Amino acid sequence: MVGYPRTVLEFNERFHAESACRSYLESLRWPRGPGCPRCPQAKVWTMNPPFYRCAVCGHDFTVTAGTLFADTHLPLRLWFQAMWYVVNQKNGASALGVQRVLGLGSYRTAWRWLHKLRRAMVRPGRDRLSGTIEVDEVYIGGESAGKRGRGAGGKALVLIAAQADGAKIGRIRLARIANASASVLTQAISASVSVGSQVLTDGWPGYADLRANGYRHEKVRTTAVVGANLLPRANRVAALLQRWLLGTHQGAVGIAHLDYYLDEFTFRFNRRTSGSRGLLFQRLVEQALALGPVRGDALVGGTHPQGMGLGESSA
Ligand SMILES: [Zn+2]
Repeated sequence: MVGYPRTVLEFNERFHAESACRSYLESLRWPRGPGCPRCPQAKVWTMNPPFYRCAVCGHDFTVTAGTLFADTHLPLRLWFQAMWYVVNQKNGASALGVQRVLGLGSYRTAWRWLHKLRRAMVRPGRDRLSGTIEVDEVYIGGESAGKRGRGAGGKALVLIAAQADGAKIGRIRLARIANASASVLTQAISASVSVGSQVLTDGWPGYADLRANGYRHEKVRTTAVVGANLLPRANRVAALLQRWLLGTHQGAVGIAHLDYYLDEFTFRFNRRTSGSRGLLFQRLVEQALALGPVRGDALVGGTHPQGMGLGESSA
């Protein structure tokens, strides 16, 4: 049963029934048969679908328990439609688009679904980049995008880590950071890049601790020369990110929700060469299963009180 739909026709044929969606989730979550979330080794009884009962602790559970799909009162089919729509939008999906495609009465519901799915786009426990990594920061939002500066109001600072793949860009990691101090930068890089990797940065003093933390640090630029492009991969990612935020979302990305957009951008970028939208769909389903429930009130990321635009809001 595992595998993914390759076309919209296959998708529609395969997931037209609630039971088919549920079976798909079961085959991805439980490749060796259902397991009690509390006692994974225990024998499990099949009850009235969709329920199972643990033979040891007596717990009744379904495949959506403890996943992103838990506590949903709408059909799984709608979730599947939403995920299919999201992965098939080349440049990213908007809440309005989700609302329209699913025929949801409520913009708010569409917005919440989209943000839950964005959460699922970052694989829980994802691995860190290794090899040769270009690292740079960029300001997002505000009147104009810039670099470091003095933390002008309405801007968020984002760390970019771009893996070198020959002359091309391999995978990326993005992280919103509070500032460009050494402790913050070192911590953010530790979360995104494996120790032992070669890290290329400019001469910013905030990168001075990298060597002491086990990285092979190389400064490729000691002065910020205008026009010099010695971190081409990181700069390219920064430009694409800014264009994506401005284009797809018309700049209407609240700083409070920037983390979700960074996740979506990373998910799409790292899979940009994947020819198959179906595989992307399967990955999204798998990650939604692994993510755990996202409570609605948890969908307020960030600490910055100011938004960057007037577009999307949770209200
Ligand atoms: Zn149990």
